Amino acid sequence: MSATTTEPTEKALKAQQVIDLLGQKLNRQVVGSLVACVHCGLCTDACHYVLANPGDVTYAPAYKADRLRKIFKRHYDWTGRVLPKWVGAATVDSEADLEELKDIVFGKCTNCRRCTINCPMGVDFATFNRTARGLLVSVGIMPEGVAVVSKDQWEIGNQMGVLKEDYLETLEWMEEEVRDELDDPDFRIPVDVPDSNVVYAINPREVKYDPRSIADAAKIFHAAGEKWTMPSDGWDMTNFGLFSGDDALGGSVSRRLYESVEALRGRKLVISECGHGYRSSRCEGPNWAKRDVDFEMESSVLTMLRYIKEGRIKVDKRRNPEPVTFHDSCNNARSCGLFEEPRELLSLVCMEFREMYPNRAENYCCTGGGGAMSMAEYTPRRLKSGSIKAKQLQDTGAPVVVTSCHNCVDGLTDLIRHYELNMKVTQLVNLVANALVIEERVVVPVEEVPVAVPVEGEAPVLAGRVVLVADDEEDQLEFLASVLEDNGATVFRARTGDEVLTLARREKPDLVTLDLHMPGRDVGEVFELMRGDPELKNLKVCIVTGKPELRRLIYERSVRPPEGYVDKPVDEKRLLLNVRKTLEVVHREG
Ligand code: SF4
Ligand code: SF4
Repeated sequence: MSATTTEPTEKALKAQQVIDLLGQKLNRQVVGSLVACVHCGLCTDACHYVLANPGDVTYAPAYKADRLRKIFKRHYDWTGRVLPKWVGAATVDSEADLEELKDIVFGKCTNCRRCTINCPMGVDFATFNRTARGLLVSVGIMPEGVAVVSKDQWEIGNQMGVLKEDYLETLEWMEEEVRDELDDPDFRIPVDVPDSNVVYAINPREVKYDPRSIADAAKIFHAAGEKWTMPSDGWDMTNFGLFSGDDALGGSVSRRLYESVEALRGRKLVISECGHGYRSSRCEGPNWAKRDVDFEMESSVLTMLRYIKEGRIKVDKRRNPEPVTFHDSCNNARSCGLFEEPRELLSLVCMEFREMYPNRAENYCCTGGGGAMSMAEYTPRRLKSGSIKAKQLQDTGAPVVVTSCHNCVDGLTDLIRHYELNMKVTQLVNLVANALVIEERVVVPVEEVPVAVPVEGEAPVLAGRVVLVADDEEDQLEFLASVLEDNGATVFRARTGDEVLTLARREKPDLVTLDLHMPGRDVGEVFELMRGDPELKNLKVCIVTGKPELRRLIYERSVRPPEGYVDKPVDEKRLLLNVRKTLEVVHREG
């Protein structure tokens, strides 16, 4: 396809890349949505942004879609080439164009799909809005929060940057809490137990802000006598690729999760209550990861409901006497059809359930969807658009709103605070755990096992670590190496791709910091050779580059992605932070 260019400024080049990439993303679904709109306007009132901003046409789904559609028409549709003015075709070629696009796709739509189900022509605006996000992300244009969260999920494997050590400590902590609460020495939160019936994957938010949800789920599995486990790696079932539109990230995150279940030979993956995690892991992930998944996947809502129906757990609804209402997460409900099961579960564990209107597929977004909670610059707009949701909540008169999504918990909590509603938010797992009837057990005293407490030594933070620093710019190489050496690491230096391979094989470093531009053998090939070398299978790689767009050449390869990246210019603090994250070295304030 031909594409128009203007003066070769950086922004113009990025605009051209966006146009070219759009051509590669055009599939039947996207093209169908791009050509089918008849501008009937039926979707307008479906959007919470429109309802909260009466008279502002720029929030209307069809208007927003036209900002993207004009590019398609100009470059990839014959009508736009022949009659550009008539069909509203136009290109993007300036910074202002790209910024307008960013503002629309990230700041004026939560990809909630409410307009989609209200379109008689089947236009799926949310899908091509996500596609447009992916195009901008691929040229580095995105809100800062999207970049930060994506980076954590690429590097550390979970979108909140939770280190493995902190995750495992939290599981131990919750295990002790529930063991004391139940007075049951047999209580465990099992980790990495092979051949389990259930592998339970969670949202990193649970580790960071809501560990009680982990404890509650563990209590339920224990009461049901389930053979279950949590993986020590690949435990994050959320996927920021759904929000950023980055299919490569989506594939990498999904692969990690699926591989952790397979490594444990788990029979079923149970996904804790999270709308976008459920949709990403169960529905979209196999496509992004380009692979089949041979085990079953289900939402924990179904698991809990089945345990009650099969008599594996007993519940007493009188323990949850307060009236509750239910907020359908857009991803669970509109995109995955999870409507009736949560309501059935609520009827079993709560005394009074009050429906919210509209509900199920017609429910309004919590306004925190589509990654909106990570985009601080749009907060005032998000809160204003939440007036519709706030009214829905208030009209129920219920003091408690239940939702099966961690993202919605945050979105709703924010709205409740902003609109001063006298309500609290909870999840089904909390209500089920609270209603659990656990038979009294005979307590068998067990011998206390002394726990080894790590003692902080005086050694520098990278003592004992071996790092191979690869860079062809001498001053950069020396800077990186000396920072790492000053912090205790043993450092080897490589200036070409071939030297990287030789030194990696000979010195067996823990980490290689890899510049993407070096003479000799192509660095992408070097990376792939290292990944395929059985002797280097534990070698961690942190990409260091001044051209972030080149990172994709590494991440899109069909091998395990790098464990980290840091963009040039690099300063001491950022280098150490990224190396520490990549090597999972606990930070000590100094
Ligand atoms: S309802 Fe469908 S056809 Fe009508 S304006 Fe909206 S997107 Fe276009
Ligand atoms: S997907 Fe949701 S937020 Fe986006 S335009 Fe449609 S109704 Fe509005």
